[in-house]
Amino acid sequence: MKSAYRSELKPVWCPGCGDFAVLSALTGALEELEVPNHQVALFSGIGCSSRIAGYVDVYGFNTLHGRAIPFARGAKLAKPDLTVLALGGDGDLFSIGGGHVAHAVRSNVGIKVICLDNFVYGLTKGQVSPTTPPELASEGSAVPHPIDPVVAVLAASLGSARSFVAQGISSDPKQLKELFVQAIRHPGFAFVNVLTCCPTYRKEPFEALKARAARLDASHDPGNLLAALALASRPVMEAPLTGIFFRGGQK
Ligand code: SF4
Repeated sequence: MKSAYRSELKPVWCPGCGDFAVLSALTGALEELEVPNHQVALFSGIGCSSRIAGYVDVYGFNTLHGRAIPFARGAKLAKPDLTVLALGGDGDLFSIGGGHVAHAVRSNVGIKVICLDNFVYGLTKGQVSPTTPPELASEGSAVPHPIDPVVAVLAASLGSARSFVAQGISSDPKQLKELFVQAIRHPGFAFVNVLTCCPTYRKEPFEALKARAARLDASHDPGNLLAALALASRPVMEAPLTGIFFRGGQK
């Protein structure tokens, strides 16, 4: 049955693209939360994943490259009752848009940021992105130390410790949906990094990640920011952990 949150537009993503699973998990989360369609605004940047703004039947805005977060913050400040989502790829949110992330965290405006992290610029045909593992970068373009989006957001949370930070993987849409539900319910800033697949330009890392992915141990206390940082600091290719890393209070 077609979701009440899916628009009439048919996605143009390549067969097998992880973006399909994220779309399904996101519409599933909205269904579970029963947020009226007209009470949701989704801002995206530019890139394959940012096309999602057209595929969800809510107010959708395909904005500028890297600028989904400031658009979303403005909307949330103007209309605090709206559920406001900002979505983009790893290149969009952590390269040209990287400067916005830390300020979104420290302002704690209650937007929900979703990063579709497939380690590549897919729309422009396979360039290295800020999160590309160095072993996958071509010669001459290698970046020795990729950005880990979860570490970046946790580090930005150190000053105020009020954010929600989680990581999912597109091969586990059931958990992903639950992480989106929890992120949307969080009253302040929330961030979900989604490890996902670009089968056209970056298939290898995802196959390895899928095989190694493990849920965070039940003993992890999501109120412990330093413990979350320690767990997230392990290279993602070695330890792709999923679940809620951190959930701050709202004092
Ligand atoms: Fe998905 Fe990659 Fe195709 Fe873009 S190029 S639609 S990210 S599979």
